[in-house]
Amino acid sequence: MDIKPLVDFHCHLDLYEDHVQLIELCEINAIRTLAVTTTPRAWVRNRDLTKGTKYVRPALGLHPQLIGKDASKELFLWENYLPEAKYIGEVGLDSSPNFSHSFGEQKRVFEHILKCCSKVGGKILTVHSVRSAGIVLEFIEKFLPIDRGAVVLHWFTGTSNEAQRAVNLGCYFSFNVAMLQTKKGQELLKNLPIERILTETDGPFIEWKGRPSKPGDVINTIFLLAKILGIPPLEVSKSVNLNLRYLIEKSI
Ligand code: MN
Repeated sequence: MDIKPLVDFHCHLDLYEDHVQLIELCEINAIRTLAVTTTPRAWVRNRDLTKGTKYVRPALGLHPQLIGKDASKELFLWENYLPEAKYIGEVGLDSSPNFSHSFGEQKRVFEHILKCCSKVGGKILTVHSVRSAGIVLEFIEKFLPIDRGAVVLHWFTGTSNEAQRAVNLGCYFSFNVAMLQTKKGQELLKNLPIERILTETDGPFIEWKGRPSKPGDVINTIFLLAKILGIPPLEVSKSVNLNLRYLIEKSI
């Protein structure tokens, strides 16, 4: 089945050895890809490699799992590049056991990021919320009013109440194959308005058939969404493209 264009709204293209070839592949195969970064130090390369691309967009990130001693320096650099970036990510909070030690600092950084985005306006953020959905939503509510920026919750694993709260805050949700293989992910999907659904691979962190996912693998997410929702894959794909277009148009 020829379903085009595909949408991979969260992929770490710069963590693959064949970063440059992957960008070309997204261009050739018409895969609308958001190339997220984990540190602002990766911004310049990602920005330069995607100058003039039709389908690949770079995102300026500061990953919560990487917040450490250098947080202030990194945040300064992130803010420095902010005027150049339309898309922001990966940013957010992570209170899982390996990263809870930096949670205080993560909160300081995320609050600042949201406030900066709110001040400038028109940014689209892809947000990480592992074991912290409630507080992530609280921060969005406080620091990024709905008319000052748009949020896509990536790999969301919050409760159904939190999902509803996120919908009310105008958030979108990007789904990957790993989420859709869990009962919780399937329930989340069924309870969301289809207008808020996007697709992602989160490659290379998610594997597909024993190798790291690549943007083209997002077709598998389309098929899974279609199966769970009982809608033809082509309709799901049309919806996702429409949702992305709407998200971009309202974020000018
Ligand atoms: Mn990620």
